[in-house]
Amino acid sequence: MNFGKRLAEWYQKNKRELPWRDINDPYRIWLSEIILQQTRVNQGMDYYIKFVDKYPDILDLADASRDEVFKLWQGLGYYNRAENMLATAKMVVEQYGGHFPADRELLLKLPGIGPYTSAAIASIAFNLPFAVIDGNVYRVLSRIFGITEVVNSTEGTKRFQQYADELVDRKQPGIYNQSIMEFGALYCTPVNPDCRNCIFKNECFAFSNGKVNDLPVKKPKNKIRNRFFYYFMIEPEPGSNETAKVYLKKRMNVDIWKNLYDFLLVETDHKLELNDDIITGMLQQNFKLEDPLIRLVSKEYIHKLTHQAIHATFIQVNVNKKLDEHEKFVILTHKNKLVDYPVPRLIEQFLSDYKIL
Ligand code: SF4
Repeated sequence: MNFGKRLAEWYQKNKRELPWRDINDPYRIWLSEIILQQTRVNQGMDYYIKFVDKYPDILDLADASRDEVFKLWQGLGYYNRAENMLATAKMVVEQYGGHFPADRELLLKLPGIGPYTSAAIASIAFNLPFAVIDGNVYRVLSRIFGITEVVNSTEGTKRFQQYADELVDRKQPGIYNQSIMEFGALYCTPVNPDCRNCIFKNECFAFSNGKVNDLPVKKPKNKIRNRFFYYFMIEPEPGSNETAKVYLKKRMNVDIWKNLYDFLLVETDHKLELNDDIITGMLQQNFKLEDPLIRLVSKEYIHKLTHQAIHATFIQVNVNKKLDEHEKFVILTHKNKLVDYPVPRLIEQFLSDYKIL
């Protein structure tokens, strides 16, 4: 049915105008691909524009500090993407003179660049014949060609890759890859695909066999882990020299939000019924702080991540003692400087809801 040619024709008529379309600058293509992983296009677009404005080329990005990059990334989540982005920018500058290598194997060696991103850069920027596979591609191929292997299994990944490699248009692989992803995003959507108006409706296996809602086949999702975060927004006593300051802590453990800043945290695996005695006990036990003045206990915030749900409560207290020296990576900063630190979105939301900034 000359799948690639028909897709490309459809794409030329229907593609969305996006700032990373119709360019072949590997830096900007890479930037857009990293930002768009696990992010909706509308949200990603604002971040892409912010990054391109602030770092017009890879030399600018490679020179940036981690805090600066994390601050600009704030709200996008999955911060290891930002960490890897900075590491890749530095490597490309140091090892390749600021030019991405036009070689898929070398691209794959850069931090945060896996099979999908390397195929996207290789095909769109360098016209190399590599097929991308993402959620859109799995959906389109499984439905049209009736592929029933589980997409997130080793066998399934291999089978889909074989199909995709056979189908990719060797003359214009970049257009082919963008076409199939755009088609999946606009027509062959996860729910309510526009089958009646689809250019492939006569050949589509899923449509002809009433299997549109059954394909692609996926492994059941892992169970979500619930985590309960009790954030202590600790401020020195009113009237002391340190008024209007607050303690922040840099997250250094291998966990979510590494390298971001948050407040002093007590984590539990179950919900606590908070009252003054429990809060006083938590401060004593975890931070050796006595006689707190409890000023605020926030509502519970729920932040959902892929495999976990964070239930966060913020407790604002004044204390008359400095935090112990043993508390590593803790800083005391002015509240009006909080805006300069990269923080998880949850904290940004709390600060805004309670008008603390
Ligand atoms: S007919 Fe429906 S399921 Fe098949 S490719 Fe088109 S939009 Fe997707």
